[in-house]
Amino acid sequence: MQNNATEILRRHGFSFSKALGQNFLINPSVCPRMAALCGATKAHGVLEIGPGTGVLTRELARVAGKVAAVELDSRLLPVLGETLAGCDNVSIVQGDILQLDLKALLAAQFPGMPVVCCANLPYYITTPALMRLLEERLGLACITVMVQQEAAARLCAPVGSRESGAVTCAVAWFAEAAQLFKVSRGSFLPAPNVDSAVIQLRPRSAPPIAGIEEARLFRVIRAAFGQRRKQLPNALSAGLCIPKQTAQAAMQAAGLAQSTRAEALTLQDFCALATLL
Ligand code: SAM
Repeated sequence: MQNNATEILRRHGFSFSKALGQNFLINPSVCPRMAALCGATKAHGVLEIGPGTGVLTRELARVAGKVAAVELDSRLLPVLGETLAGCDNVSIVQGDILQLDLKALLAAQFPGMPVVCCANLPYYITTPALMRLLEERLGLACITVMVQQEAAARLCAPVGSRESGAVTCAVAWFAEAAQLFKVSRGSFLPAPNVDSAVIQLRPRSAPPIAGIEEARLFRVIRAAFGQRRKQLPNALSAGLCIPKQTAQAAMQAAGLAQSTRAEALTLQDFCALATLL
């Protein structure tokens, strides 16, 4: 963290909240790199989640036309007032990114502007925050976020690979995902127990497979991964509350061996099962 921000935090008597995932960036090279890669130009608006002391916000304000940063912890508002003094293109919105009406927020903050999202995410909301950004089809051109390295591996894994899970399939359905660079745990204050990585999601303009009811598809995906140690017919039967024979018949009709594991299935396989079940 810039000495300035550390000093301001101290002066405000700020204590870090573990529950809010408050690990603030202190490595000065990370924020400019994220801002340079997030896809924003002076024509863009940037939605930031959790500005903290504003280290990333300040860099985003340099590259973008406007930044709206949503911060849950009201204790940081006076801190941000000081660290972002002079950044006239930044609005701080106090609230919970999981609760706010994001469509209304983007329409109000960035009328007529293309919008990207860039954030050092609080780790405890990585999956729900990303799923909100993707599922609500907010029209974001690009989502560039720092997450724990293990989460990065899972979010960006190829569907059908050993690292894939329900969230891998969901991300792949809505976006193209890639890891950009790694960030060591020592880059944060306080230092977390694990390293991090910056990933980028590029939302698709249309789903990769047409004609599937999404709610049904995601029910099948969740059921398949819900009980990883169970054989797939048992997991589908338990997760979807259907007889095991029905699940076995659907797998056979989809051309899948009964011993297939959920992580080996492709999006096409899941779509076939969703259609059959
Ligand atoms: N951007 C800063 C940085 O890189 O140093 C802070 C990142 S820190 C990992 C996560 C930030 O998200 C904290 O400021 C925390 O208070 C905020 N936060 C936690 N939960 C949130 C939520 N549900 N909605 C909005 N902000 C949240």
